Amino acid sequence: MNARAFAGCLALTLGIAAPAPAQDYPGVPVLMYHKVNAVVPRDAVGRDLTVTPDRFEAQLRYLREHGIRTITAAQLAQSLARGERPAHAVVLTFDDGYDDAATTALPLLKKYGAVGTFYVSAGFVGTPRHLDWKQIRALAAAGSEVACHGTFHRDLTTLDAAGQRFEAGHCVQTFGRYLARFKAVTYAYPAGQYDATTVATLRRLGIIAAFTEHPGVVRSLTAAYELPRRRIRHDDDVAAFAALATP
Ligand SMILES: [Zn+2]
Repeated sequence: MNARAFAGCLALTLGIAAPAPAQDYPGVPVLMYHKVNAVVPRDAVGRDLTVTPDRFEAQLRYLREHGIRTITAAQLAQSLARGERPAHAVVLTFDDGYDDAATTALPLLKKYGAVGTFYVSAGFVGTPRHLDWKQIRALAAAGSEVACHGTFHRDLTTLDAAGQRFEAGHCVQTFGRYLARFKAVTYAYPAGQYDATTVATLRRLGIIAAFTEHPGVVRSLTAAYELPRRRIRHDDDVAAFAALATP
């Protein structure tokens, strides 16, 4: 077992050994974005996945005004694994590695002293409309987490074990090659799909927590590979956002 795998197993063990959440622990909402962009697609799906910079900034302002801090998914998972219970916090996740993460979301995150977790499919890095390695390094340098969202964004449940190993493992290896000090801690399933083979695959890679699109907030690592996220939609105003950002 190499050092990284050992660290993963150790963290996993700690996660299982961590105390169950106190009854009154509200937990941490994990919010899911895709695009932060002033250009809103006309098709219904693309539109729903796009939050305008104005709206995004209003959301960050809401968090600041209400004393809600942002933490990364890795920080959340590692805190819970240590038996801590982060409070007054949210995790902002951004799926699919669009380049507006660096051009639009990052400057606003910096302005508000906030961080995000960017789930990127390694096979699309540097392709049109997607982040390149320089931009990904800038996200990481600003304190955000960059983590895997598959290699080619395949629905893992449609693949056999070898296919799943490639999709997840190749992404982790590629990030390790291109990013200094990269450690795979969390993962987001493309399309939210996973099965028992997926969980075993991620565990072997040292990943300690993975996100679905199940509803709810994160209160423990009891189901660490089936953690919930709340989707932020184009039409969500500040009141709708406030409800989603509150456990
Ligand atoms: Zn995706």
